[in-house]
Amino acid sequence: MTETRASFWDEPAETMSRDALRQLQRRRLGWQVARCHAASDLYRAKFREAGAEPGDIRGPEDLARLPVVTKEELRADQAAHPPFGTFFVAEPPTWRELHPSTGTTGVPVSTIWSAEDVATITDFTARTMWSFGVRSTDVVQNAFAYGLWVAGMSVHYAIARLGCLVVATGTGVTTDRQIEYFRLARPTVFLATPSYALHIAERLRERGIEPGSLALRLGAFGGEPGTETPTTRAKIESGLGIDAFDYYGLAEVGPTFASECSAKTGIHVAEDHILVECVDPDTRRPVPDGELGVLVFTHLTREATPMLRYWSNDYARLSTARCPCGRTHARAVGGILGRHDDLLVFKGAKFYPIQVEKVVRGLAPLADEFRIEVRRQRGGSMVETCTVVAECVAAPPAGLEGRLQQALRAELGVTPAIRLEPYGTLERTTFKAKRIVEL
Ligand SMILES: [Zn+2]
Repeated sequence: MTETRASFWDEPAETMSRDALRQLQRRRLGWQVARCHAASDLYRAKFREAGAEPGDIRGPEDLARLPVVTKEELRADQAAHPPFGTFFVAEPPTWRELHPSTGTTGVPVSTIWSAEDVATITDFTARTMWSFGVRSTDVVQNAFAYGLWVAGMSVHYAIARLGCLVVATGTGVTTDRQIEYFRLARPTVFLATPSYALHIAERLRERGIEPGSLALRLGAFGGEPGTETPTTRAKIESGLGIDAFDYYGLAEVGPTFASECSAKTGIHVAEDHILVECVDPDTRRPVPDGELGVLVFTHLTREATPMLRYWSNDYARLSTARCPCGRTHARAVGGILGRHDDLLVFKGAKFYPIQVEKVVRGLAPLADEFRIEVRRQRGGSMVETCTVVAECVAAPPAGLEGRLQQALRAELGVTPAIRLEPYGTLERTTFKAKRIVEL
């Protein structure tokens, strides 16, 4: 393998024609559908609901006949059939790792990896990291959580597979300690959530540490959207002195299985292992290339707890056009554009926190942190009052509120209230930021 940025981790898999990829997916899907139907009560019930037999799912185009599976269903299934529910398919002696995933409700859903799953996950995770430029000579500081959020472990294995030195800081150390390791171990690659990357950049500035004095050259940021928001990407890149790439995953599916390549044209999904559909949220049938829909994932190779049509809740636009990098695997162009759950409906306008982020981070006197305080109608999703809370790095210049309001109106189609706070008022996170505050 030559160590150039243009090369591939697994060239045949990553650059095969769409026709060849479809054939491979058809074969693997047939295997997966049959074993899920044979071994899982949860999936057998899905087939019954659809009035379908495994033989009816002859290829990816037939998948929409099956209902989707949601995280809530998995959680309810595990509660009704403790401890692991009825969606594990491989035999327990093959199991190697248990990964409970956190969720907003706090009750975790347990995902299991077989020995073969660990090997597959390690390989496609190494592939994603190779695609954004990690090579064996790199030192990688991994600030993805090693605990309940499973990306820490899979990325750790992949770093070892790539032949790099790993600095396994996780999220369990202070921000100043992360910075100490930047100086001590001289990592060239940094992995974290985008909110945490911004927080570290802010701390470097406060301490007067020049990013150029560190060895960092690139970073990949996942666990929440934002890296592909141009203003956020620019702040991470200048704040850490790196090239920043978007990294995407879901605990039940990857954990991390999609990333930007060196061309930065959207996140490529490892489609030979994970089938992706972009579907209409109401009909749950695929939308044409380039149209907005919710991503739905199906495991083609996962053994222990495979997902058939897992509802991600994430909005994106898919492109199957060949990327300038040469990869043929589908890309979510612009990354994740919003979470289905985070949609705010205010005075008839619909918007996502990521749109507020784009505006706040585009106005120079404002710091990176922000919140959206909402009060909802009793039992409804409609927002009655909405206040964007932002921080100003110095005394607010005259007219700042007006400019912020104008920029928000242009982006959201509606004008929320605004409250400017002194710099440092809002809590920083080492993990995923909570943008919406319910009053
Ligand atoms: Zn590409």
